[in-house]
Amino acid sequence: MQFDNDRILSRFSGMIACETISHSDPQETDDASFFALHDYLAATYPLVHRHLTREVIGKASLLYRWQGDGSSPALPCALLAHLDVVPTGDLSLWDSHPFTLTRKDGYVYGRGVLDNKCQLLAQMEAVEALLAEGWSPPCDIYLCYGHNEEVLAPDSGAAAIVDTLKQRGVRLGLVIDEGGCVTDGSTLGIAPRVAVIGMAEKGMADFRLTVQDPGGHASQPGPTSAVGRIARAAVNIETYPMPQRLISSVSQTLQRVSPYMDKGARLLLEHQSTSWFILKKVLEKSRATNAMTRTTTAVTMASGSAASNVLPETASITVNCRILPGDSLEDVRRHLQQMAGDDVEVSLLAGSEASPESKQDETFDLLASLAAELAPDAVVTPYLMMAGSDARHYYAISDHVYRFAPYYFDQKALPTAHSVNECLPETGFDEAARFYAKLLMRYGAREGQA
Ligand SMILES: [Zn+2]
Repeated sequence: MQFDNDRILSRFSGMIACETISHSDPQETDDASFFALHDYLAATYPLVHRHLTREVIGKASLLYRWQGDGSSPALPCALLAHLDVVPTGDLSLWDSHPFTLTRKDGYVYGRGVLDNKCQLLAQMEAVEALLAEGWSPPCDIYLCYGHNEEVLAPDSGAAAIVDTLKQRGVRLGLVIDEGGCVTDGSTLGIAPRVAVIGMAEKGMADFRLTVQDPGGHASQPGPTSAVGRIARAAVNIETYPMPQRLISSVSQTLQRVSPYMDKGARLLLEHQSTSWFILKKVLEKSRATNAMTRTTTAVTMASGSAASNVLPETASITVNCRILPGDSLEDVRRHLQQMAGDDVEVSLLAGSEASPESKQDETFDLLASLAAELAPDAVVTPYLMMAGSDARHYYAISDHVYRFAPYYFDQKALPTAHSVNECLPETGFDEAARFYAKLLMRYGAREGQA
């Protein structure tokens, strides 16, 4: 199947030109920009829009269904991306206009090129090309594009898509969303490149801890104050973090990178259970590996009195928690309560549970083999995603939810997600489209033979 990088990029400009910025307050979102993107997709991918059914779900999310011919007993599969982008930030810091796709020095620049319209582009290209070749799927294929992934909105488009599918009795045999990618090995402390496939994502929660006190004039303080007591709670939370654990996907990551580490690290990583007592101390030392092995509880905000001569009647801290799969919001609340003491009120402000871990079976192997074909030099590994994605909603209808964008997010591109001068290498768009085309062809064929 032929994919032309330059021609694909020429169609990318129109996607980037739609200023699909999402806001937590849906009133602030410019719906017209999303409808413009819908129209652009319809005009640019005529075969997709002739052969697939398309529904607008929620305010502006899209759900496409490509009906299979029924020759495979496989459950349907779903390709995901999100239509929205984060705000541009200070425009004067951008070297080119964020909504004008710009090619320069081997990169393409624009808001959303990496997060996450590159995925939308490659999926549309793959399906259009398969249709042009006359290929028809043996089982149903869904394309699911949320319109507010970037914000914690009460009306999540992805959740609405999942509800719609659930009501129709659909279960999915494969879901693939953003989260993993091909990237430099330095992110995992090794020399070769890595292709990381997200198996799960951490949950997130904000807890507020509050203490009450009689207060009074600062000239006649008591032996303790509300601030002193809440500060002690903060110190306890930092001194006694939640316990470290190795979940399966993190254990796999360590196992797969171990051959590329020095001898000491290799020994520890190859014998994780017997060396756990030492290994956990090593992992705890780096912020990245610490976050991979426990629920983190970061004290981020504090408040007390509004004046220097007034003893506060209440003092509070906010603790931002990132929850490791296996821990629950209630586990975290209980831990904070224990650390803070009975006189401290602990309340959950907002939060979402950690996702389960997806199965590492032949469906994962299919993705891993495609990732290896895409980047033959890379070490392919499961991993735990630290941030959130729309994928978490899909566990309600699938045991096989994975996160992998078939692109090389190099050291220059990766830090530009959500930042100024967001960019991606200008090559590889053809390979990304080919990745999805091969995935769709092999997925149904594999199950058909089973
Ligand atoms: Zn994203």
